[in-house]
Amino acid sequence: MTISFDTTQILIGGRWRAAGNGETIDVINPSTGEEVCKIGRGSAQDIDDAVAAAEAALNGEWGKMSATERGRVLSNISVKIKENEDELAALESLDVGKPLKQARTDATAMARYLEFYGGSADKVMGHTIPYADGYTVYTLREPHGVTAHIVPWNYPMQIAGRCIGGALAMGNTCVLKPSEDACLSLLLFARIAEEAGLPKGVLNVVPGYGAEAGAALTAHTGVQHISFTGSVGVGKMVQKAAGENIVPVTLELGGKSPQIVFDDADIEAALPFLMGGGIHNAGQTCSAGTRIVAQRGIYEKLIAAMTERYEALEVGPASDDLDVGPLVSEKQKNTVNDYIKYGVDDGLTVAAEGYLTANCPEKGSYVKPTLFRDVPYQHKLAQEEIFGPVQVVIPFDTEDEAIKIANGTEYGLVTGVWTKDGGRQMRMAKAVKAGQIFINNFGAGGGVELPFGGIGKSGFGREKGFEALYGFSVLKTVATNHG
Ligand code: NAD
Repeated sequence: MTISFDTTQILIGGRWRAAGNGETIDVINPSTGEEVCKIGRGSAQDIDDAVAAAEAALNGEWGKMSATERGRVLSNISVKIKENEDELAALESLDVGKPLKQARTDATAMARYLEFYGGSADKVMGHTIPYADGYTVYTLREPHGVTAHIVPWNYPMQIAGRCIGGALAMGNTCVLKPSEDACLSLLLFARIAEEAGLPKGVLNVVPGYGAEAGAALTAHTGVQHISFTGSVGVGKMVQKAAGENIVPVTLELGGKSPQIVFDDADIEAALPFLMGGGIHNAGQTCSAGTRIVAQRGIYEKLIAAMTERYEALEVGPASDDLDVGPLVSEKQKNTVNDYIKYGVDDGLTVAAEGYLTANCPEKGSYVKPTLFRDVPYQHKLAQEEIFGPVQVVIPFDTEDEAIKIANGTEYGLVTGVWTKDGGRQMRMAKAVKAGQIFINNFGAGGGVELPFGGIGKSGFGREKGFEALYGFSVLKTVATNHG
């Protein structure tokens, strides 16, 4: 495809320009292994400039806008995202290897985030509090000020949509540091936001490496809130940096989400979700339901049904729009293949694999989807986030055992429970440790309205839904003694 803008430019204070040091990062198409363009390599100086621009914007037109007007700007952005969905999806597909259909879903979801947060901007209210005689007490919800947004490569549009949307709804200004591996769609998003009427300096975008632009942003004393989505290792560094400056941080980290299938489950209804956990976005999803925890009575039937589907899975270039595209990079491909090899060498049984089509170029980052069966729940492949199209099936006998397995990792992001038994549905929802529990579904179609976040090593704080707006604002209590 021909890209319609200069991808090396970064956005600071409403001005597109080269990164300060003039350096760039190569963008590789994971479907072919070929370079497609370059992006700017933002430096600490660029971050300084971006934070200064975001500070200035707080005191300009944006700071004076009513919540309703802010909401209208966000709604306009949403409309323009929809108008540009084709280009956004094509860019994402080129950049990270997502099959086109899946990239389009992400563009639609980003538009929906802006629509939802546009509509909610003027609906966040404080309270009046009954207090002592002679007092009137009320609370206000105010913006933090300059907010930092660091996003990963797996869902750039969805993740930027949710955190930028929430932050803007509450009147903050933003500095966005996209992943060095996935930034093209977000550069276009920033251009769309400008066109939709977002005032200059409200959204600044500085692409670059995590250790450079990312670290400079999280350490910056001008930042009043950090929203980080990424790995546990980097999350720890971000939390330390936030601690140094005593600023609030939301950490949306990894997962190893279970889908628990009881004997009485509607297996036909469950199958698309069980499969989706492994193959959607080639398994590169924080909330991917990659641990299939299946009760003994349904176990063989489930393995047989998943085997049949795995063996039909086609892997190919993003533009072929098959079940599974390449992984985001050669590095990610090697990491995932190392996990598969480790499992096989350690004696695990491969139940089924998908296949690579003849169209897969040699230098693309393709991995065969792989389903392991009879995996002990303490095994490395059942404990660690693989971030590729690999699933493990773990058998269990009793409800208590299912709970122990579900809660038996250091993560707690999402859990799916498949059962027709109403009592069991309630017991499982309470017993399982995760930020979201889905009963007889998994993910509820993404639901931007649904608060999302982890416990344990999956992080803390909530994004998505109305709940996120509390995180993106500061509560102020006003107590007036009027006698
Ligand atoms: P990553 O942690 O390597 O990178 C995430 C972002 O952090 C990138 O923009 C990167 O440049 C930046 N970064 C790297 N080092 C930094 C530093 N020292 N200081 C500041 N920023 C730095 O993660 P990734 O590989 O891009 O993404 C995959 C991970 O993200 C997985 O663990 C996945 O589960 C997680 N994830 C979580 C959610 C969620 O909502 N919980 C959503 C998507 C992805």
